[in-house]
Amino acid sequence: MKEQLRLLERLQEIDNQIDHHEQEMSRLPLEIQEIARSLVVLRREISDSRERIGTAEKEYGRKEQDLASEQEKIKKSERRLLNIKNQKEYNALSREVKLGKKVAGEIEDSILAYMTEIETLKKILERKEKEYEESEQDLLAKKGQSEAISEEAKKALVFLSAEKEEITASLDRDFLKKYQTVKKFRGTALAELQSGSCTGCHISIPPQLHIRLLKQEEMITCPNCHRILYVKPENIPVLNKLDA
Ligand SMILES: [Zn+2]
Repeated sequence: MKEQLRLLERLQEIDNQIDHHEQEMSRLPLEIQEIARSLVVLRREISDSRERIGTAEKEYGRKEQDLASEQEKIKKSERRLLNIKNQKEYNALSREVKLGKKVAGEIEDSILAYMTEIETLKKILERKEKEYEESEQDLLAKKGQSEAISEEAKKALVFLSAEKEEITASLDRDFLKKYQTVKKFRGTALAELQSGSCTGCHISIPPQLHIRLLKQEEMITCPNCHRILYVKPENIPVLNKLDA
């Protein structure tokens, strides 16, 4: 019985390690997928940003042309003003010049606004490009790590599976079945008894059960969580050890 319990303990250790390796193997691929998805989003955002900059720059260029032709018009009118003798005509042209200057001022305002917009968009683009580059490097690094971890885990799993097979072959069929069933429902099948309590569910075990457990002559399960209880050899009183 003692031997069977030790085997179950070892089986649980092995199962924990197997679970750990399997989790490790699947952890990075999930992160990698996540990064790959964010790269797709970033790529789209970068191309949107570039498009918006292109549009704004075109608009900016058009406004500059508008401004140049407006200023040309103003200059011409101002030259004409110098030669006009008729007061009425002079006043009309003066008004035209004034209006032209107002229009030119508005165009200047919108040129400045486009300039600011382009600067802002370029900063956003730069930030996104940097983010993209960093994510891409992160992705490559994680892929490398993931391969290394998988390689390690695969090697470890070969050994663990072999030992697991050996143990399950030496285990009593009913014990193994009990272990597998509890593991399926509880995650872990074995729980150490510490200070009179089951470490699986933290409930106190009746003293009679505790005594039976220390004798290690039968399989004792927790009345509450049904995990198989065990006591570490160093925690079994010497008297019992001698008895057995
Ligand atoms: Zn319990």
